[in-house]
Amino acid sequence: MTTIGFIGLGNMGAPMAANLVAAGHQVTGFDLVAAPDGLRLAASGEEAVSDADIVITMLPSGKHVLSCYADLLPAARPGTLFVDCSTIDVADARAAADEAVKAGHHALDAPVSGGVMGASAGTLTFMVGGPSEVFDRAEHVLSVMGRKVVHCGQSGNGQAAKICNNMILGVSMIAVSEAFVLGEQLGLTHQALYDVASTASGQCWALTTNCPVPGPVPTSPANNDYRPGFDAALMVKDLGLAASAVTANGVDAALGLRAAELYRAFAENGGAGQDFSAIVSAIRQRSQGE
Ligand code: NAD
Repeated sequence: MTTIGFIGLGNMGAPMAANLVAAGHQVTGFDLVAAPDGLRLAASGEEAVSDADIVITMLPSGKHVLSCYADLLPAARPGTLFVDCSTIDVADARAAADEAVKAGHHALDAPVSGGVMGASAGTLTFMVGGPSEVFDRAEHVLSVMGRKVVHCGQSGNGQAAKICNNMILGVSMIAVSEAFVLGEQLGLTHQALYDVASTASGQCWALTTNCPVPGPVPTSPANNDYRPGFDAALMVKDLGLAASAVTANGVDAALGLRAAELYRAFAENGGAGQDFSAIVSAIRQRSQGE
């Protein structure tokens, strides 16, 4: 049994913490707003971390993580392991880890993919950055909340893997959506294009799992009025982080940057709150001159 302080009990944090409790760990949670049932709650973040072996944060952004760390690091016992599972900028993740180490603690960045369903089912994928010996200390706890835990290297590399993966996802969803709209204009049925591309070189997750048109993949959000799924607003956030890293590192990533622009425009024009695959509707409308 590990004593865990869990900070940030929103859509993702609450089910992740619940899985840790179900696995027999002693979890004390804290959130400024949310108060999920079935979890021992502390009156403050400082109280939640004061006797923890491991502190997990699941917060909206890098600024929240850095400001939380400023309050929590002095309140934890020396040698506490801080694991940030939020999706944040690589530079912020490295800064947070440096602060933790300076304060006499250990730190990992461990963002996730798999969404709220994966958080509830305990099937998240964790992408972890930080020293190997620190990773070894966290793996048994992360394995409770996820099906796959990948050590990606040095501090910040978990966030790097997350934004690179989601840049592939954003670009490939736009590519699949454009192909379906082109197919429509050429008189090709969705099913015919799906049957070819899903077993040919166009195969990808955006096509075969989260297919943006209704029909070919009955479980995809397209069959459920594009209810998320993976909210387009979160895709905007992740592509924004990717675009910042692309620019900061001088990488020639024309499609990643364009995907960030297209998703931002989509979200601003009513797409936020819909699954990110609904961008196919915007592409169709623009193609019809609407
Ligand atoms: P959320 O907004 O539902 O939860 C964040 C929680 O943090 C809120 O309940 C908020 O009150 C709390 N919080 C903010 N500041 C705090 C503080 N100082 N102390 C304590 N609590 C504080 O967000 P979410 O959907 O759970 O996402 C959390 C993180 O996970 C984000 O970084 C997001 O990008 C990432 N993520 C989300 C998904 C998803 O599908 N929702 C998938 C993968 C990754």
